Amino acid sequence: MSPVVARISSDESLPSAVDVVIVGGGIIGSAAAYLLAKRGFAVALLEKGYVGCEQSSRNWGWVRRQNRDSRELPLSLISMQLWDRFALEIGRDLGFRRCGLTFATHLESTLQQWESWRPIGEEFGVRSHILSSSQAAALIPESKRTWRGGLQVPDDGKAEPALAAPVLAEGARALGATIHQQCAARGLDLANGQVVGVHTEKGYVRADAVLCAAGAWASRFLRPHGISFPQAGVRQTALRTRPMENIGEAIYTSDFSITRRLDGSYTLAISGKATIDVTAQGIRYFREFAPQFARRLKNVRLGFGNSFFSGPESLPAMLTDNDRIFEQNRVLDPAPQKWLARQVMANVRAAYPQFVDAVIDSMWGGLVDCTPDAVPVISKVEQARGLVLAAGCSGHGFGLGPGIGLLASQLLVNDTPCVDPTPFRLSRLVDGSKLDIAAI
Ligand SMILES: Cc1cc2nc3c(=O)[nH]c(=O)nc-3n(C[C@H](O)[C@H](O)[C@H](O)COP(=O)(O)OP(=O)(O)OC[C@H]3O[C@@H](n4cnc5c(N)ncnc54)[C@H](O)[C@@H]3O)c2cc1C
Repeated sequence: MSPVVARISSDESLPSAVDVVIVGGGIIGSAAAYLLAKRGFAVALLEKGYVGCEQSSRNWGWVRRQNRDSRELPLSLISMQLWDRFALEIGRDLGFRRCGLTFATHLESTLQQWESWRPIGEEFGVRSHILSSSQAAALIPESKRTWRGGLQVPDDGKAEPALAAPVLAEGARALGATIHQQCAARGLDLANGQVVGVHTEKGYVRADAVLCAAGAWASRFLRPHGISFPQAGVRQTALRTRPMENIGEAIYTSDFSITRRLDGSYTLAISGKATIDVTAQGIRYFREFAPQFARRLKNVRLGFGNSFFSGPESLPAMLTDNDRIFEQNRVLDPAPQKWLARQVMANVRAAYPQFVDAVIDSMWGGLVDCTPDAVPVISKVEQARGLVLAAGCSGHGFGLGPGIGLLASQLLVNDTPCVDPTPFRLSRLVDGSKLDIAAI
């Protein structure tokens, strides 16, 4: 089942020519559309389903700088500033609140890792406070575990996944961009290695530059053009309660995470627990992903089923260059993992009696698109001048989305980049560079 996401209208007809076409209306594509339109560029945002319908509405909504890999930290600071600005500029609430994040752990090693990250965070202005075991227990009830300690990060926060991408897309439209839903991009038009337009299911658009922000579909979108992007999906599960008593805003333990949403309901999940489905694309990029997945083995299950036969990593997606595959899969809606949903509920109820009678409104799966080193790609693409790829956010892309959208927009129009783009270059994944895998 898909989570609820605010629906926006589409523009009726495709423009014949624009400065930039954006493929994918998730948080990255929508943020880039807004930021480019604000600079006065003509933008068409293409979305095969509806804006925000895939990962960007299926996440917890955390906007977290805490524990970010140092390569992502500069961009996460910029993202924070953009999150602060968007509601003021657009005049609509995206649900962004610097509500603070609270963590507790039963493991000395985790506590030490938080402690050792603090100076790194402080360099980037991230304030955090280590909690003693009793302070942690006062904030997050102990049930199965005794807390060794905790962490509070007062200035990090959350935004509303049902609203963020749609509000940004509408903000872009108010500045002149056009939004085209149910309008899959079928492929790029290249002339002498330069992008000159995009073929879509509703016709052709000429463009000087194209952003591929197609989330889990990015690798499949690029492959027919001879561009290799090692990407793999990890299936996660989340649940949403009906609105209920307030027991906290954003809480993390190894047994559950809970996030209060704008309407007073909660998103519930367990961090890191997931299924890696065996897929044709997964087999193709097995060598690249083996080191990362080996690290995660304790928390993941292997699955075999639908994703082998349909979706971006499926056998048909690998064997053919069928350019209708995107419109044939309007919304990627992977099944939630029932075993995980049961674990989340049992763990949350053991800690919080308030959840014993909570009604589960919905649950869903989401395919987190990962890179081999768990750092996004935000990069010009050598084989296609004028093309920028921004994908592979590896589970961090909602909070980082505004910053990723900004950097991508700057690369598209050859502006000075807001951060050094080198760590995000695509080539590191394909030229044999030694990869440094980020913590997930
Ligand atoms: C359960 C879960 C929890 C998460 N929690 C967090 C969190 O708390 N904080 C955080 O920062 N991140 C979190 N994430 C990760 C975050 O959701 C993603 O990193 C982020 O949303 C990626 O955004 P995106 O725009 O790249 O991709 P998406 O949101 O997936 O958008 C890509 C869009 O491209 C469209 N598309 C694809 N191909 C085409 C085509 N050919 N033509 C037109 N459109 C196309 C798709 O339909 C889709 O809408 C979580 C993810 C999941 C699944």
